Amino acid sequence: MIEDSKSALIATHTRLKNEFNQSPYPSLDERKRRLAVVKSQLLTLRDEFVAAANEDFGSRSEFDTLIADIMPSVTAIEYIERHLSKWMRKQKRAAGMTWLPSKASVEVVPKGVVGVIAPWNYPIQLALVPAITALAAGNKVMIKLSEFTPQVNQIMRRLFTEVEGQVQIVEGGPEVAATFTELPFDHLIFTGSTAVGKKVMAAAAKNLTPVTLELGGKSPVLVLEDANIDAAATSILMGKLSNSGQICVAPDYLLVDNKVKDKLLGAMKQQYASLYQASNGFAKQTSIINQAQFDRLQGVIADAEQKGATIWRAESTSQGRKLPLHIITEVSDDMQVMQEELFGPILPVVGVDSLDDAITQIRTRSTPLASYLFTASQDSIDYVSKNLATGTLGINETIVQVAVESLPFGGLGYSGMGQYHGEEGFYTFSHKKSILQSGNSQWRNKLLLTHSKWLTKPLQWLFLRG
Ligand code: NAD
Repeated sequence: MIEDSKSALIATHTRLKNEFNQSPYPSLDERKRRLAVVKSQLLTLRDEFVAAANEDFGSRSEFDTLIADIMPSVTAIEYIERHLSKWMRKQKRAAGMTWLPSKASVEVVPKGVVGVIAPWNYPIQLALVPAITALAAGNKVMIKLSEFTPQVNQIMRRLFTEVEGQVQIVEGGPEVAATFTELPFDHLIFTGSTAVGKKVMAAAAKNLTPVTLELGGKSPVLVLEDANIDAAATSILMGKLSNSGQICVAPDYLLVDNKVKDKLLGAMKQQYASLYQASNGFAKQTSIINQAQFDRLQGVIADAEQKGATIWRAESTSQGRKLPLHIITEVSDDMQVMQEELFGPILPVVGVDSLDDAITQIRTRSTPLASYLFTASQDSIDYVSKNLATGTLGINETIVQVAVESLPFGGLGYSGMGQYHGEEGFYTFSHKKSILQSGNSQWRNKLLLTHSKWLTKPLQWLFLRG
């Protein structure tokens, strides 16, 4: 693995900051040119990315790399390209009568050098989407890639060679990452675990670097009595099996109305066989990234079993680090399966008696990054939309809310802070500079300097009446 030294990181940051200062407001054309280069390189290198991810994971489905990693990066670039000129436009604001005849406006300007820290689970899109959004906002970017994806990292370096002056790749483990967070970035975006997110925020505070934290946690699925059970089963399976459940917004645990619990579990098991197994799904399934993660998941299952849970294990021929779907019932809060983010194809199931019961259970845990609701009732949808604290919400659908370019993405509380994707992402990496422009305001300033006592009364009468 390539390890960047502390002095190399400082030198790179200083160089990028100096270069930024020489040209702190790249034109629309220049930004679009940079995005086009990244997109074209991404398309050129797609097969190499697929092969590299396959090597890093031990085996990774082509679908997971092409459709869930590369495609969101390409569509994000295209969405930004379509909207960039509007987002960059100077915004007119009203100065108000008091400051007539002045003009008020907001100029949206780049922040400077943005740091991006990426995890391993979607090593392409989770590095690229924040990076290209920061680039579109006119910044220079340093990306610290995950130490668990060395092959993808090599291709990522090649991807950025043609915009090297704008984006710099950094590699290394926790030590390099910790040094990275100490650099005086103008913004730092971190995607990873909540535990490391706390360290990132503490380090960034020393430079007053603003942070966006894209973290994880336990994302619940609620299935109500009136839901389309068959469709819910398909959607939950899709969300839990994509990338083998190694997704920050994967449905982590299931809260299902007791009246339809058996029906839902039956549908999931039946569909696992008829849709997934029948199409050779397990053979194509992405592996668990490494032995440590595989052992952790086996440990979670063993802990549940030992504490009295019932485990349903999908039929499979055991292959390397591929883990078949596990549905776990009779779970209790003292089991690891109900305590930690699972990040694998394991689904614990809890029966509930009502929507309120489900919401109470969700509120006993930290705020999730995603929640999913399956119901036919518009009242339930409206109630959950307004009353459940969650980063994002999928209704009769799992995980795909993340792929909708026009929606902001981010968590709340322990699942993160701040948002990116689309317009929100552009403004996350921009500074909205307030500007007040006066023609000749000398008369007003003279008045204020010489007659402030005399002016107090009429000004009070005009603006401070009860
Ligand atoms: P992780 O927190 O272990 O590592 C993420 C990155 O942080 C890696 O690049 C790592 O090198 C770096 N890092 C390690 N120690 C650091 C330190 N002291 N300071 C700064 N950076 C440090 O996470 P992971 O195992 O790579 O990814 C899995 C986690 O990420 C899960 O919790 C998942 O939910 C979360 N995640 C969140 C999102 C999201 O968008 N919200 C997306 C994907 C994954």
